[in-house]
Amino acid sequence: METVTGISASPGIAIGTVFIHTHDAPAVPRYAVSADSVDAEMERFREAARNAVAELEELRRNGAQEIDEDKLAILDSHLLMLRDTAFHDQVERGISESLVNVEWVLYQSVQLLVDKLNSSQSEDLRQRSSDLHDVCNRVLSHLMNRKRFSLADLEDEIVLVAHDLLPSDAIAMNKRKVRGIATDAGGRTSHTAIIARSFEIPAVLGLSYVSRMAENGDTIIIDSNHGRVILDPDQKTLDDYERQSRAWHQHEVQLMRLHDLPAETRDGKLISLKANIEVPEEVESVITHGGDGVGLYRSEFLFLGSRGLPSEEEQFDAYRRVLEALPSKPVTIRTLDLGGDKVAHEIADLDEQNPILGWRAIRFCLSNPDVFRSQLRALLRSSVCGNLNIMFPMISGLEELQQALEFLEEVERELKAEGKPVKKDLPVGIMIEVPSAAMVSDILARKTSFFSVGTNDLIQYTIAVDRGNERIAHLYEPFHPGVLRMLKLVVDNGHAAGIPVAMCGEMAADPLATVLLVGLGYDELSMSAGGIAEVKQIIRAISVREAEEVVGEAMELDSFREVDRYLRHLMGDRFGLETA
Ligand code: PEP
Ligand code: MG
Repeated sequence: METVTGISASPGIAIGTVFIHTHDAPAVPRYAVSADSVDAEMERFREAARNAVAELEELRRNGAQEIDEDKLAILDSHLLMLRDTAFHDQVERGISESLVNVEWVLYQSVQLLVDKLNSSQSEDLRQRSSDLHDVCNRVLSHLMNRKRFSLADLEDEIVLVAHDLLPSDAIAMNKRKVRGIATDAGGRTSHTAIIARSFEIPAVLGLSYVSRMAENGDTIIIDSNHGRVILDPDQKTLDDYERQSRAWHQHEVQLMRLHDLPAETRDGKLISLKANIEVPEEVESVITHGGDGVGLYRSEFLFLGSRGLPSEEEQFDAYRRVLEALPSKPVTIRTLDLGGDKVAHEIADLDEQNPILGWRAIRFCLSNPDVFRSQLRALLRSSVCGNLNIMFPMISGLEELQQALEFLEEVERELKAEGKPVKKDLPVGIMIEVPSAAMVSDILARKTSFFSVGTNDLIQYTIAVDRGNERIAHLYEPFHPGVLRMLKLVVDNGHAAGIPVAMCGEMAADPLATVLLVGLGYDELSMSAGGIAEVKQIIRAISVREAEEVVGEAMELDSFREVDRYLRHLMGDRFGLETA
């Protein structure tokens, strides 16, 4: 039995069997073949291609009811490629000219084509390269007897262990089969953590070496309530955790009783508790957890799949689905926040030296007018389907905000000229997540309908600590006096200008921070739906006056550690909150 400690990323306890996930594709072998073996190599290729065709046809047959038309079209294009005689001829020529094995010839010729397509000006041709890759990998997996694997194909219930999990992996995985997650890398506010919370999968990240310590099939316990992972537990530990897991579920059931009650302080202030979502399907859990709406829909997850840029229609459809599912509740959709750890290679080359400070979010959109315009068109068109708010991410100052607003106005004029309806007086707000924006929030407040503070980035940029780097995770301090002063400045400036101020970073979900945030005057807290009930319970037990006193005391303290200690005592004594 071995215990490893890391960073609690998504609460809960999971017990299960280790499944190691790696991104590394096994190396493609290269060896010489004699002229006499060319036919035999070619036969191996034909057989692998036949198997790949059979596999695709089966996928098509079995999935026809569940897979949408676009996905079917992709499967069809892969089938066409596999049956293309020119493709077969090219591989045959390659083997006889170079006298090397078929795997290598296939891999090399596809690589050459992919490079050519990627350098093309045509978006369509560039997108074809990922299809080629896909087909090549499928045939290679048959040639090398390797099982192709995607986390969407998980069949057994497992605990996912990986060095790191890409946000696109996390979004694609079969959530019903993943009981828990443990990774070497990542921090509490990395996007993998955020997705795990959204899907309510217990997760501990930042474990350094867990992917090398664990082996497929091992028993593992994820205890995210204490930020620990136990490998190969003994029977006594297992029994103990089975008990804890049952108690945890009972606690969750208790909290669900608050579902229909408002998040109202004892002296009558209503705080709006909303949910953060990444995909339209999550809207179900906003309803089951009693969310007052969606405070942050991270629209970029629509762009993170392997399909590249979604069309205006696809985007419209996703936004419409969320808005229609919550007919009487506000839904804040954030425009594209690609970049940082959310990379979509199919869309742009975002390989940068310093991506966190790089071509991210609104910066990316303002220099990709077609991408931005198509999203704004989809958003404005969806405005008539519900109660939409639009929000721009990573605004750093007035010029950026003005440019974004000009884009929006231009698109609105365009749609009106086309006779498409757009809702009047749509609230348009911004995220405050760059320190410069917080410092000039008095100026920005005059130009926007609301603020929403993104503490995940605001803390990262204020303390200069990469939110996804487990080595410096101990420096990521939400209660740093520098951060608290900024949080106060933003809410004060917003209120002075008469606009509501929300928080949609992970700090909004931290029960340790709730009293402080109410005392500072935040009007809305938005978080993964699973966290709403716990925060609501605290809000219902305090008064604004009491919360303001807490702020008064906390703001007098000199260091993160002192504020943290003060809040832990307070929440422990007052609410019996057990903090790791
Ligand atoms: C934030 O930065 O706090 C935020 C909510 O945005 P994201 O986590 O998607 O960067
Ligand atoms: Mg952010």
